[in-house]
Order: sequence, then C-alpha cells, then structure tokens
Amino acid sequence: MSTALDDVTMAQQAPPWSTDAGRVVAALGSDRSTGLEVDEARRRLREGRNVLPASTSPSLWALALLQLRETMIVVLVAAAVLTAAVGDLADTLIITIVITLNTTLGVVQQRRAQRAIAALASLAAPTARVVRSRSTQLLDAQDVVPGDVVELEAGDLVPADGRLLDAEGLEVDEATLTGESLAVTKASTRCPAGSLIADRTSMLHAGTVVTRGRARIIVTATGSRTQVGQLAHLLVSTTAPQTPLQVRLARFGRQVAAVTGALCLLFLILGLLQGQGLETMTLTAISLAVAAVPESLPAVLVLSLAMSAQRMARRGAVVRTLPAVETLGAVTILASDKTGTLTEGTMFAAECWTPCGPVLAGGHGYGPLGALRGDNAAVTGAARLLRAIVLCNDAELVQTQGTWVPAGDPMEAALLALASKGGQRAADLKQQWPRLTEYAFDHARMRMTTVHRGPDGTVMVVCKGAPEVLLSLLDQPPSVTSEALAQVAKMTGRGLRVLAVAEHERGDVPADVTDAEHGLGLLGLVGLHDPPRQAAAAAVSSCRTAGIIPVMITGDHPATATAIASSLGLLRAGDVVVTGQEVEAGLEGLELEKIRVYARTAPAQKLAIVDALRTAGHVVAMTGDGVNDAPALKRADVGVAMGRTGTEVARQAADVVLADDDFATLVTAVAEGRRVYDNVRRFLVYALSGGAAEVLLMMSGPLISLPLPLLPGQILWVNMLTHGLPGIALGAERAEDDVLRRAPRDPREGLLGAGLLGQILLLGTLVAGVTLGVGGWARGAGHPWQSMVFVTLTLQQLGVALALRSQQRSMMRVGLRGNPLLLFSLAGNLGLLWLAISWAPLAGLLGTHPLTAWELVVCVATATLAPVAVEASKAWARRARRG
Ligand code: ADP
Ligand code: MG
Repeated sequence: MSTALDDVTMAQQAPPWSTDAGRVVAALGSDRSTGLEVDEARRRLREGRNVLPASTSPSLWALALLQLRETMIVVLVAAAVLTAAVGDLADTLIITIVITLNTTLGVVQQRRAQRAIAALASLAAPTARVVRSRSTQLLDAQDVVPGDVVELEAGDLVPADGRLLDAEGLEVDEATLTGESLAVTKASTRCPAGSLIADRTSMLHAGTVVTRGRARIIVTATGSRTQVGQLAHLLVSTTAPQTPLQVRLARFGRQVAAVTGALCLLFLILGLLQGQGLETMTLTAISLAVAAVPESLPAVLVLSLAMSAQRMARRGAVVRTLPAVETLGAVTILASDKTGTLTEGTMFAAECWTPCGPVLAGGHGYGPLGALRGDNAAVTGAARLLRAIVLCNDAELVQTQGTWVPAGDPMEAALLALASKGGQRAADLKQQWPRLTEYAFDHARMRMTTVHRGPDGTVMVVCKGAPEVLLSLLDQPPSVTSEALAQVAKMTGRGLRVLAVAEHERGDVPADVTDAEHGLGLLGLVGLHDPPRQAAAAAVSSCRTAGIIPVMITGDHPATATAIASSLGLLRAGDVVVTGQEVEAGLEGLELEKIRVYARTAPAQKLAIVDALRTAGHVVAMTGDGVNDAPALKRADVGVAMGRTGTEVARQAADVVLADDDFATLVTAVAEGRRVYDNVRRFLVYALSGGAAEVLLMMSGPLISLPLPLLPGQILWVNMLTHGLPGIALGAERAEDDVLRRAPRDPREGLLGAGLLGQILLLGTLVAGVTLGVGGWARGAGHPWQSMVFVTLTLQQLGVALALRSQQRSMMRVGLRGNPLLLFSLAGNLGLLWLAISWAPLAGLLGTHPLTAWELVVCVATATLAPVAVEASKAWARRARRG
C-alpha cells in the first residue's frame, strides 16, 4: 500500500482485514453489498432462530403439578385421605371436587399470566437492521441468520456473532462477555487522515453494545452457537425473579397462614374440651384453615400485573419487567427528556441571524420550499452560514408520499430545509466540498466539526454547536461575541433551540480536533422551533394533581428549556432551573423538590440526578434514549426508554419502553400502576375479611350454642364460591376515579397500612355477627339453621365483593360495567349456591337442606347488611372528602 495516497482515497481504501472478510462472506454464501436473498434467509431461519436456549414455558401438566405442591392443596389432599380412611366418603368427594376446581383455576390463571408476559417480551424484543435482497430491513433480532449483513451504529445491540465488513470510528462495549465495562475500540479509530487502522480483532459478538461509530458485519453464528450462547447454559435460570410486591405478599401470606393455623389449633382444642369428636374437629379445623388463608394472593398479583402490563402495552407503554408496573404506581418524580418526549421532536429552522441581520424562514415541516424574509443584506449575508450548515450535517431529507421526512437527526434535517430555502442544494455542495474528516457530535462536546476540501483546493473547517460552547472557542473580538450572546438570549427566551455556526478557511488539513477548532470565525446563529406536544401540558398538570413532580432534563440551553417548561406549566414561579455544571458541583444543599428543569446536562449527569433524588427518598421514573443514558435508566426505579427515537441499548436497559415517546403515555402508565396496587389491596380486604369472618363464626358459634356452625365440607364450599373466581376477578377492577388525583402512596407504607387492617377486622366481625344472628334465630325458631348460616355467609361475601369494587364510588354508580369476569362469576356462584342447597345429590354430600321461600328471604335480607355497611362507610368518606 502506498503511503503517498491522498486523504480521500485513503478513506476509501479497503482495510487490511477485508480480504479475509471477503473469504468469510463467500464461505457463508452471502454478498457484502446485497446481503442474503430473502428466500435463502427464510430457508436458513428454519434451521434455527437466533435465540438463546432459554427455559421453555412449563407444560399444562407441569403447571398442574406445581399447583398440587401448594401448601393448601397438600393439606386438602391429606384431609381427603383422612376422610377416606375413616369412611367419610361424602367429605372425601367434596374435598376432591374442591381440589380439582382450585387446581384448574390456578392453572388457567397461570397460563393467562404466562401468555401475557410472553406477549410482552416479544413486544420489547431487540431488533436488527439487516440487508436482504439489496434493501435494508428492520427485523426481529430473532430472525437474523448466518450470512446476513447487519448494519450497526452507536446504541445498537450486536444481534449475533459476526465478522466486520467495514467500520467507521467503531467502539464496542463487551462487558456482557468479558465483564469489563470499558469500551473496546474495534476496527478503527479515525486517524487524522481518515483512514482505517486494523485492530487486534475483527469479530463482533452477540450481546455486546456499539457505543460509538458505525459498522457492517456479516453474521457468522446465531443463537446458541454464538459466544454468549456458549455461556448461556450458565445464565439460564428457570425461575423468573419475583417482584418486590410478590416477595412481600409471600411473606405476608406466610404470616397470615401462621396466625390462622394457630387460631385453628385453638379452635380444635376448644372443640375437644367441649366434648366434640377428634375426627370431626380435626377435619373442621383443617377446612377452616384452608378457607381462611388467602391462598390465591400471589396468583392474583401476578395475573393483575400481567393484565395491567398488557393494557399498558395497548396504550403504548411496553413494560419489560413486571415489577415496573407496581413501581410505576409509587412514582413520586417523573423525570423526562425534553426533545421528542415533552416536545414533538419535529424541528423547524425558523430563523437565523448573522452580523448582517436576522432572516426569517417561511414554509412548513421539513419541506425545502419557502421564502427567506429579511432585508437584502441579511439574506445575502446568510449564504455562507447556510452553506456551512449543509456541510456540517449528516442528515438527509427524503420525500415519501408527498411529504418531506428527515433521515437522520431531525435537527440537522431541519437545517437542510432551511439551507435549501436559501438556494443551497445539499447534493451539489457535498460534491463540491468533499468531507475529509469529521469530529462527530457528542453530548459532552455539544458541537460537531467537519473538515472539507474546497473547489479551489483550500481546506475549510466548519463547526456547529451549542452557542455558549462555540462562542468560547472563537477567535474573535469580544464585540462580535457579545452581540451574538445578546441574540442568543433573545432567541432562547422565545423557546427556540439555538445553534451557533462557525468556519475557518486554512491551507492545511488540521492534525486533530483542537487544531481543527482553532481560529474559527462566527458565521451566525440558527433558531429552531420544536413545538411542545399537544397532550404534554395536560399530562404535566395530571402529574401535579397526582402528587408527582414532573421534571425536565435536557441538553438544551437553560433559556430554551425554561421557555418550553413554562409553556407546559412544568415550571412555575418559585421553581428552580439548574444546569449540568451545578449537578457536577453536587446537588447537596439544594431543595431537590423545587428543581423542575435540569438544562445543559450531559447524559452522564442523569445518573447523579437519579442518585440524589433516590437518596432523598423519591421513587424516580426517568426517560432516556441514548447509549449514555443506559446507566441512569438502570439506576432509576423505573427506567423509561423511547421506542421511536431511542437506541436499542436504552430499550434493553429500561423497564418500560414508550412506543410513541409521549410523556402523556407515561402518565397513563402511572395510573395503571396505581390501579394494580389498589386491586391487590382490594383483594386483601375481601379475602382477609372473609377469612376472619369464617374463623370468628366458627370460634364463637359455641357461645350461642351453635357448636359447629358449619360442617367441613360446607366451609370449603363457601370458600370456593366466595374466594375462588370472584377474588381473582376483583384483581381486575377498573381504576378508581381518583387514581390520578391523590398523592402517591408512601413507599414505606405496609400492605395493610392506611386503615386497611381496621377495615378488614370490622368487616369480618360484622359478617360473622350477622351470620351468627341468623343462625341463632333460626335454631330457636326451628328452621334448618345450618343451611341458613351457609347461605347467609356466602351471600354476604358475594355482596361485599360487589361493594368493594370501588373504594369510592357507590355500587349503584359502578353498576354492571367494567368487570364482566366478576359479574359472571358472581352469577355462576349464586347458581352453585342454589345447587348446594336444592340439588339432592350435592345437598346430601354437603349436609344441607332446601330452604323455604320465607327462609330464603330472611337470608337474603340479612345478607345485605354487610354490603350496605360498606356502602354507608364509602358514602360517609365521600361526604368527608367533599366537606
Ligand atoms: P436534548 O436534550 O435537547 O436532546 P442534546 O444533548 O441532544 O439535547 O443536545 C445538546 C446541545 O448540543 C443542543 O442544544 C445543541 O446546541 C447541540 N447539538 C445537538 N445536536 C447537535 C448536532 N447534531 N450538531 C451540533 N450540535 C448539536
Ligand atoms: Mg438530543
């Protein structure tokens, strides 16, 4: 290779390892520029998808077996054996029916939850840009096959193992493979002349992350044949990690079980002391324990989390980890990017300024048509500025179906549109001024610099970037800079994003960045308009009513950020704006709750912000889209990635992916999270008050000479009718009206906190009391008292389920809307209750008797007491809130 080649040809020179890559391409039967043919790719896909050998979801039988391992079921099986041994076949049969129904219900639920979770996983699955039959397509990473040509850029996850075909400034983070979190420079760092230098290795591996630059690879191995696939057997774990709430609930469930067990033991001893038979008492105590323990609690939680996640997905918030659903409900700070999330992310270069004066741009969108308005001198004077913003630009404008859309950075695309309104055609300019070198934009430098060879052979350096950064680089008299700064203040104050543009004509090619950015002269400023999203202001105000502090984090100028934040209602009198510098200096001593805007922040500072907020006790949701945002997304309680504009890395680091990048969607997701938590608490009130009522009833029966208010089989039947399907259905209730009108829950609040325990005990006592009353009366009056106790207890609980559907709205207001499963199961269970007392074979097994119309009326009438009491307390609470 000659050393005398000039810069441009050097850049086009094939890297030394490319011949080797050529052999690989040929061996894989592919083509480096056209990629695989679609048919061939399809054929190869049949040989194996690009997935790691993950744990397959358990079969129905496995699920059923799992259910059978549940303690409650084990106890029931033991009881069935016991009854069979003593020849009590009626009870054996009842218990068997209960076991069968419970197991079925459990399996069905688990299945539903699993399906929902699997569906979500596929929504958030990584994607890859693959060249097939000449065109680049966005595919599921699963569908990548050996021989595919994959395009990669900063922020992408490498989908499979592959050999580099070409690369530009490529850096890869191989932490997933090596455990070292330092980025490895892969093919090349750009040397000054823009050539490529071979590195020690030319392989990229699945699961690693492109942190900088661009590359194309040819896939050599997919799925379990990749390097990480070889490791994968170490990584696969069969049990999904439990959510914090699941863990808490499991612990709580064990506590309840212990208390119930102790009470039932007491019950057993008391019964024996009263002279009851050992066998009857044992069976009754076991049944009572089974009935009183809310065994479906974990299932209710998983199912309602999964269902919620599905609903969120339909509204554009894809949840990647289930815990995120419940954490969202507890969020106290929503920290969001500005560009694209709070604003539309569609840029319009509305004006520019040069020392010759201001120029305004007409037209709309990214279209290249529109007039430039301003006095002649100003318009003429802007020509060089417009040329510069075309040269220092990586975007393109493409026309699809009559509208112009940006390809690449929308802001840069907007600059192209502006330039073409001034007659500067990108295609021509780029040809006349070939680019020699570039120093890409990054968030830390806040500028981009390119070096060009002019038509006359001179070298031209162009730089555009954040005004205060760029102006400080300039080699110009203070009068120029101060005038420019005054302009910047005016433009940013109007909410415009302002870029400064400078250039420098010189004889030689600069040696490095510092050299390149030396001696720049200011051309002028460009002001870009990015309108706030339509729904954003409303979403910000919902945040406030929901007691959540909305916060904006942006790389933009403080004045621009302030203008936009104020127009959204995010920033109000007394609120504080800080800059990245202040974050750097430390947030201690600042009143964090008052800070609503973090401007001129680098992505790395987001981590410091998350930490400070979390240390102050906040539950933080934070959005991000770039490679550098990944650590903050991981650290935040809920990391939120942008689905449209975000990088793959950010998506994979996040808990939630916003399909539409919209802040408002995030707020609805918070409402969903709160709903799940409400429903878990709703289920707790229902199940625990029912259990408490049953225990109380059985233990205090003897006091009014009802020695055994219910037989074991009856207890199990009541439990199945009330806590089976209706309980699960309660976990799917709609959100309360005020989900977004009340403060977030205290993250330290206990499961039964905020008055729940009292509610449970009161309700349990009331239900037990009413039931006992009916029993005592019926016994005295010579009615079939036990059947009446059975019916009254069941009816009361079913009524309570209806009353508990909303903590606030009355049963009447809720009506029959919203929860078909609950209504369906209540109706079905009324039917089963009816069968239990009037269908002779079943009644025989349960030991119940048919009731007369009069007796039924008594049961129904008294059974309304508990639900009515719940309604009354809700009405009272409503009045108190209004007052
Ligand atoms: P944001 O949070 O608004 O997306 P960024 O971190 O992307 O902010 O950008 C920070 C600043 O860097 C911008 O305000 C702008 O001044 C400058 N900047 C952004 N993109 C480019 C670019 N492509 N070229 C030069 N400067 C840029
Ligand atoms: Mg940006």
